[in-house]
Amino acid sequence: MVIKGLSGLVSNDLAIDLGTANTLVALRGKGVILREPSVVSLHKDTHRVLSIGKEAKRMLGRVPGNIEVIRPLRCGVIADFECTMAMLRYFITKAHNRKRWVRPRIIIGVPSGITQVEKRAVRESGELAGARAVYLIEEPMAAAIGSGLPVTEPVGNMILDIGGGTTEVAVISLAGIVYSRSVRVAGDTIDEAIVNYMKRKYNLFIGERTAEDLKIQLGTVMPQESPRTAHVTGRDFLTGLPKTVEINEAEIYDAIIEPARVIVETVQVALERTPPELAADMIDQGIVMAGGGAMLDGLDALIREETGLPVTIAEDPLLSVVKGVCALLEDIDLLEKVSIER
Ligand code: ADP
Ligand code: MG
Repeated sequence: MVIKGLSGLVSNDLAIDLGTANTLVALRGKGVILREPSVVSLHKDTHRVLSIGKEAKRMLGRVPGNIEVIRPLRCGVIADFECTMAMLRYFITKAHNRKRWVRPRIIIGVPSGITQVEKRAVRESGELAGARAVYLIEEPMAAAIGSGLPVTEPVGNMILDIGGGTTEVAVISLAGIVYSRSVRVAGDTIDEAIVNYMKRKYNLFIGERTAEDLKIQLGTVMPQESPRTAHVTGRDFLTGLPKTVEINEAEIYDAIIEPARVIVETVQVALERTPPELAADMIDQGIVMAGGGAMLDGLDALIREETGLPVTIAEDPLLSVVKGVCALLEDIDLLEKVSIER
């Protein structure tokens, strides 16, 4: 039961999407109030945290030797415990700013790959940040709810969440995850594929952020007849000097098609492993894509082509998880059903 007294009116319950690339925080009744990269910069020797979020991401690729910029959840597991906790506490405090006088409920969406120990640590961080109760929910479930899928119905709902570090595919029916799989091929892998391609073909060294920009600007897995082009600046391996080259969509296609195919195969395997009745539902229900990677040009069409199923991209795919978590703040019954048990 939710007590709807004064505290109900000034509720400061939080919904958090602790993503491998981005962390989003929504306030009950208000929507998304914070959206920052899941990045931390630290002093190498002392391991002291210097900055978190946007500020830390700006430093990526531009730091002197004694500073390190890390993404503590990069691989869908908590690689750096302390940093993840520092980041989580910082975001919660920042989201609450002056309203720390009511102890909130916090629901946190976590990558489905994290371990029992990591889950406990995330929960404790929420408590340390002042939460009265902390619930955890698996991100594919949150993404499905946030994309408006009828997760409580006895039908097969397939959600494909392509983030930075991981791609998660899940089949959900009757508020439970029937099948799920997480692979470490997602947005970051595609960026790395672009970095490698530029190295191979042009002897050009570019940073991760440049590669990500290129992907967003030109990336496609369905090249067009008249390809778009862009200029890329990096460092020439041979001369060590800055160099600019012009590159087209078809080249980016060559660079990224392999990781894109791994994502398609992950969906195909999921379909093969889904119980037949639920798989049959997918002919009508189709597959819903969420996460930033869902916006990669042509990926929906490629999956449609390879599976023969209807494929749609969630409205605002970067917000699917946080929207789902936020919906659970309002629906305690569903929350009890879908949250991860202690
Ligand atoms: P996570 O949930 O793992 O934090 P997000 O869902 O926030 O990840 O998605 C981040 C990923 O989406 C990044 O790899 C980013 O480069 C990618 N991305 C964002 N916008 C686009 C776009 N328009 N096209 C392709 N990829 C995109
Ligand atoms: Mg995500």
